[in-house]
Amino acid sequence: MFDKKSLESIELIIDNHNEVNEDALNLVSSYYLDITDVRGSKIMEISNEEISMMIRVSDKKIYRTIKFPNTFKSSDEVVTFFYLCLAEARKKAPEDYPKTRIEIQIEKTLNLNTYITKVKNKKEISSNIIEITFNGGLESLPDLKNDAFMYFIIHKNIDHRYPENFVMQNFRELNAKKDNPYSAAYYTIRAYRENEIDVWFVLHDHPGPLANWAEKVTEDSEVAIWGPRSTFTPPEGTDNFLFIADETAQPAVLASIDNLEDKFNFKCLFETQDQSSQFECHDPNNCIEWIYRNDEPAGKGSELSKRIEELEMETDNLYVFGAGEARQISSIRKILKQKFSLKPDQMSFTGYWKRTD
Ligand SMILES: Cc1cc2nc3c(=O)[nH]c(=O)nc-3n(C[C@H](O)[C@H](O)[C@H](O)COP(=O)(O)OP(=O)(O)OC[C@H]3O[C@@H](n4cnc5c(N)ncnc54)[C@H](O)[C@@H]3O)c2cc1C
Repeated sequence: MFDKKSLESIELIIDNHNEVNEDALNLVSSYYLDITDVRGSKIMEISNEEISMMIRVSDKKIYRTIKFPNTFKSSDEVVTFFYLCLAEARKKAPEDYPKTRIEIQIEKTLNLNTYITKVKNKKEISSNIIEITFNGGLESLPDLKNDAFMYFIIHKNIDHRYPENFVMQNFRELNAKKDNPYSAAYYTIRAYRENEIDVWFVLHDHPGPLANWAEKVTEDSEVAIWGPRSTFTPPEGTDNFLFIADETAQPAVLASIDNLEDKFNFKCLFETQDQSSQFECHDPNNCIEWIYRNDEPAGKGSELSKRIEELEMETDNLYVFGAGEARQISSIRKILKQKFSLKPDQMSFTGYWKRTD
C-alpha cells in the first residue's frame, strides 16, 4: 500500500492527468500501449503494481493496464515511470504528432539558468505577505512577464555564500542525499526591473523552510534561483479573463493584469484570510473582489467555491487562470468546467501548494 501522503498525491495526479493532460495519456495509449484510433484516455486507478486506463476507440471503450517493473511504494516512482512511458511513446510516434503539455513544460526546463542574487530590501504587504527585493546577479534574467516563476533554493544558514558555479544540478544531487542543507520552492516574480526583482512570500503557520527563511532573512543574504518559466497561455483572440487566486497566486495575477491590454475585460477573485491580509492595489475599475476565509484555514476556505458557483460571466473568448491549494483548485476547476463548458485551452489551473494536515 502507498502511505497516506502518496495516496493523496496519487489522487491529485489522476485528477490532473484526466482533466489537463489527456493529450499525454492519448500519446501513451497510442504509442506505448499500441492502440490504434485513440479518441480519449482516462486513468481509472493507480495501484502499487500498475496504472489502469480506460481508452475510447471509435465507438467503444477498452480497458488496459500499464504494469510497473516492480512494486512502487511512492507517488514519485509513479510520476517518474509515467514520464518514461511518455518518452517511449514519443520515440514511436510519427514526427508530426503534436507535443503534449507535459512535454512542452519539460522542454522549457532544458535551457534554464541558475542565478545567485542577494536580498536588497524587505517590505510588509499585508499581515501574511512580505515582499523581498532581490538585486544583483540577474543581468541576463529574461522578463517573461505574467505568472513568470522561479525555483528558489535557500540554505538553512541565512549567511551562507553560494559557490560561484552553483547550479540546479548541484541542488538535485544534494537533494537525493540525507542532511541536505538546502530547501527549495517555486515563487513568482511580482515585478521585474533591470537586474532586480520583487517577490511576495506568503508567511504561513506550518513549519515551511521557505516561509521561515523569508521571515528571517536580512539584507545581503544570498539565494540561488532557477528559471524562469510561465504557464499563462491564453488562446489567440482572448479578451476576457477570470483570475482566481489565494495569497500564493495573487502576485502571478497582479503581474498578469499589469500586462493586459487596456481594452480587455478581467475579473479577479482573491481569497485571503481576513481584512488584515487584504492589501491595497491599483484597481480603478473594481475588478478585484476579496473573499475572506475568516475562521477556515488556508486551503480549506469554502466561500471561494460558493462565490464561483453563483458567478455570472460572458464565456466568449474567456480565459481562466486559477492557482492556489492543490485540492481546492482542483475542485474549482471542476465547478467551472461544468458551469461554463470551457475548452481545455481556455483554462490554466495549477496547484501552487498542497495542504498536508
Ligand atoms: C508556479 C508556482 C508559483 C508560486 N508562487 C508563489 C508566490 O509568489 N508566493 C508564495 O508565497 N508562494 C508561491 N508558491 C507556493 C509555494 O511554492 C508553496 O507555498 C511552498 O510550499 C512554500 O514552501 P515552504 O517551505 O514555506 O513550505 P513547505 O515545506 O512546502 O510546506 C510545509 C507545510 O506548510 C504548508 N504550506 C505550504 N504553503 C502554504 C501556504 N501558502 N499557506 C499555508 N500553508 C502552507 C504545507 O501544507 C506543509 O504542511 C508558488 C508555487 C508554484 C508551483
